[in-house]
Amino acid sequence: MSTETYAMLIDGKWRDASDGATFPSVNPFDGQAWAHVPDATPQDIDDAVTAARRAFEDGPWARTTPLQRATLLRRFGDLIKDNADELARIQVRENGKLIREVASQATALANHCYFFAGVAESPLGETLASSVPNMQVFTVREPIGVVAAITPWNSPLALLLWKLCPALAAGNTVVIKPSEITPVSTLVLGRLIQEAGFPDGVVNVVTGAGPAGAALAGHHGVDKIAFTGSTAVGKKIAVTAAERLARVSLELGGKSPNIVFPDADLPNAVNGVIAGIFAATGQTCMAGSRVLVHEDVHDEFVAALVEKTAKIKIGDPLDPETELGTVACQAQYDKVLHYIEVAKADGAHLATGGGRPDDPALAKGLFVRPTVFTGVTNDMRIAREEVFGPVAVVIGFTDEDDAVRIANDTSFGLAAGVWTRDLARAHRMTRRLRAGSVWVNNYRKTNYVAPFGGFKESGIGRENGFHAIEEYTEVKTVWIDTGNTIT
Ligand code: NAD
Repeated sequence: MSTETYAMLIDGKWRDASDGATFPSVNPFDGQAWAHVPDATPQDIDDAVTAARRAFEDGPWARTTPLQRATLLRRFGDLIKDNADELARIQVRENGKLIREVASQATALANHCYFFAGVAESPLGETLASSVPNMQVFTVREPIGVVAAITPWNSPLALLLWKLCPALAAGNTVVIKPSEITPVSTLVLGRLIQEAGFPDGVVNVVTGAGPAGAALAGHHGVDKIAFTGSTAVGKKIAVTAAERLARVSLELGGKSPNIVFPDADLPNAVNGVIAGIFAATGQTCMAGSRVLVHEDVHDEFVAALVEKTAKIKIGDPLDPETELGTVACQAQYDKVLHYIEVAKADGAHLATGGGRPDDPALAKGLFVRPTVFTGVTNDMRIAREEVFGPVAVVIGFTDEDDAVRIANDTSFGLAAGVWTRDLARAHRMTRRLRAGSVWVNNYRKTNYVAPFGGFKESGIGRENGFHAIEEYTEVKTVWIDTGNTIT
């Protein structure tokens, strides 16, 4: 079987690793290595950071106007739209996500470029009410410098654009290190960055695994680290950043509660809970993996949830009829199966799913049946640790206070869902839940206008929305003496 070979983008040139080493990208549906990409050496990382530094300090980028940056971002957005089908299909090959989920996402990525093109030209400073006589005081927002964008495999392009668009709008330069599971989609995006006309060195892509990420994060030429990934690696990045006080934003894991009250539209809530946990085979940071159900509707809700879950169509992620694709890689697959065993050993009741599907046609793929555990208490490991797979746990609650107590009893705080028809309760719950996003009667919605990020160990900082620009700029205060007097 033929494999494709890709190169890294450093200073506008497509390059192999300096020692020629490569690693494969493996399709989780058929187990085939379909592409080879360079395994960046510390020298390659240094070259990329040096190129980004030069582009930031001396290159034409340092002198671009907001209009020029906005124009490039719009062109980049147009190219993403034109190539959305290719970008979607590559992501499916890399991580087994469903084409029906990724296809519309790929087109929507362009909106991030268009939105941040607008932000590039928006007023970003403020004139201050100075009480000092003859003094004009105002602020300007300036780019931080060289940004390292380190991304995970579950939504490689969306989570990259959440960083890249505000970074470029603000005038930073960027070195991207995609996940070793999904490097190709980012390299193809690099081709579009070049076609859009960004000057050499403004955006660089280096490929490799954890050590390449650590070398990039630890490089003294990097001014800001924008990271999405696991909480464990995020904590290491925070330590690395602290050593030289590099700016850092972290989008990390979750164990998000999706809370069903007895006054909810139950069929709607069942659908929302299923989409909340099983979309992307449960491999989303915001997955509603803890389903909290009021005792009055517990049995009725669980029966409907289990019935629907058992009917989810598992199969080829490129088939638009498929409802659940593969887990992205062998290590993740092993982890999910391990957590299923942990839950059983801790006394959770397996209501449906719980292992591989029997269908021999799926034998080569990394499939896990959509799984629901009931009889779970919030102190069990399956309720406390992020599985990042198609595993929901159902936890009963007695009243609103109990729901809030259980929901907030977690080290994470990324997201939460509330299903109720009581408007006052909806408002009360949104205020009491300690999470960066709260959805009422819907789940897992994100948009380029809406800030996204975590409380507690789910992260630091916010991506998306106008305020994302704050993560990629330094505030400079300017004092101008208008009285011409030296005192
Ligand atoms: P990961 O932490 O294993 O890897 C993320 C990235 O960091 C990869 O590019 C990896 O190569 C790199 N890396 C690994 N070790 C490193 C190190 N020591 N120093 C620097 N870089 C290093 O995460 P993953 O398995 O790719 O992704 C899944 C995780 O990401 C889940 O925990 C999920 O919740 C989280 N996630 C969070 C969000 C969010 O927005 N909050 C979104 C998606 C995924």
